[in-house]
Amino acid sequence: MHVTFYGATREVTGSFHTLTTDHDNILLDCGLFQGKRKEAEEKNRVLPVDPKILTNMVLSHAHIDHSGRVPMVTRSAFGGQIFCSRATAAACECLLRDSAKIQAGDASYLNYKTARAFLAEVKAGNGKTTISNGDMQTIKNLLKSGDHDLKDEVIEKLLVEHHLEVIRPLYSMADVEQALASFQGIPYRETVTIGKDLTCTLYEAGHILGSAMSVIQVKTGGRTRTVLYSGDLGRFDKPIIKDPNLDFAPEHRDIDLMIMESTYGNRLHEPIEDMKPLLKKVLLETFNRGGSVIIPAFAYGRTQELIYFLHEMYIAKEIPPMPIWVDSPLATMITHVFGEHPETYDTEAHEAFLQKGINPFDFAQLKFVQSVEESMALNRDTRSHIVLAGSGMCEGGRVLHHLRHKIHDERNTVLIVGYMGQNTFGRHLQEVGEKYSAEGRRGPAPLVRFYNKDYPLRARVETLGGFSAHGDRNELMRVLQESNLSIKKIALVHGEEEQTLAFADYLRSNGYNVVVPFHGQSVSV
Ligand SMILES: [Zn+2]
Repeated sequence: MHVTFYGATREVTGSFHTLTTDHDNILLDCGLFQGKRKEAEEKNRVLPVDPKILTNMVLSHAHIDHSGRVPMVTRSAFGGQIFCSRATAAACECLLRDSAKIQAGDASYLNYKTARAFLAEVKAGNGKTTISNGDMQTIKNLLKSGDHDLKDEVIEKLLVEHHLEVIRPLYSMADVEQALASFQGIPYRETVTIGKDLTCTLYEAGHILGSAMSVIQVKTGGRTRTVLYSGDLGRFDKPIIKDPNLDFAPEHRDIDLMIMESTYGNRLHEPIEDMKPLLKKVLLETFNRGGSVIIPAFAYGRTQELIYFLHEMYIAKEIPPMPIWVDSPLATMITHVFGEHPETYDTEAHEAFLQKGINPFDFAQLKFVQSVEESMALNRDTRSHIVLAGSGMCEGGRVLHHLRHKIHDERNTVLIVGYMGQNTFGRHLQEVGEKYSAEGRRGPAPLVRFYNKDYPLRARVETLGGFSAHGDRNELMRVLQESNLSIKKIALVHGEEEQTLAFADYLRSNGYNVVVPFHGQSVSV
């Protein structure tokens, strides 16, 4: 048996590994590469292996950097099944459909931009690119019906006729529907057959609802070989879901190869118990000023963790029960998935909610925005409330509308609860806001630019750390040292090279045998 690494090698996205036996090729995760558009597009467009050779697939969790290329495999000659936890299967329904929708929208917009630039050049003549406003409007009318809907067919025809690049989505909604038919949700800790003499057992990974570590065993000629794929590993004591599993069944404890994530292999997080008092402080201060709290939040995980904390604080009467609005269709769907999978909740969630007959995701103050009109009405609502809206890094989506209506008002707070990538608008907002506060909020408010306009950032910008979905170095070590596993070799994946190599050194200094594979490298088991 051997494992070959084709993604998330010395980087954090595009998880894609194959496990090969004499009879089977099992794909472990099938993630999208995320990052700069052109670079990601090149990596995503071509699958590293022919889907025909793949017999089955095991998915660690539903995050798109682990599941986002599934439809590219299943629309080809893949006749196998996709094994994952039941909650992961349910979350993939929402996330893969959303992925297809985003790709279609992006492709349509980029093609429109190419067509518009081309027509502007033609109209202006001789390579000049400036044209009159009237002519530009004619061009826009040709390519758009109404303000928003692009005439995709007209645009594509024009691009093809003039040999211009047409951007196409990686897959369609029909491809996603086909993929969803291959999902096989299985319970944790139940061993299933995934190939000849080959089994898989899932254990909780504590990273996100449904996330799993998978123990894969091949038994041939009286010998057993065991691979443990960690997927992404979560933090201990996170709200809602169970911690990363430390108690493996006796037959799953001798691991020949552990494929382990290393996102924060060289970092330590803030402790989780410090988060609630900080959240309470920010909310109370804002409500005392008569303001609202805008939280840019990722639809899957962060939104539900915040809802859960807020619900707990409302029950304990720690903060006034202001309305909480979830303004994201995807977050709304995923929150329902959370509500439908209590089997994944930890003891605390059982004691605080389920045993009392309370659904953590269903209470009077929690409201889901149903329409664009309702979202717009909420934009203008000056009564105190909390709004959770996407996108998580403020790169688009409804959160920008809430910011547009609320950041000029010093009573309001923008609460940052997630990682803001470099060069994102969220990171810019965070840096500008924190600098203004650090300088004592003196002088005119700094300006931030979006929607082609400058807005004064008078709202407070606060950051709550500790919400990471990934364990830090100590938590990764806990999985290794406090579990009942005995591990012969570790292959580190899913980390920026600097984090991974530092973690590899740390592991070696603790006596582990570690390899950090390059793209395409195989490790035999
Ligand atoms: Zn993940």
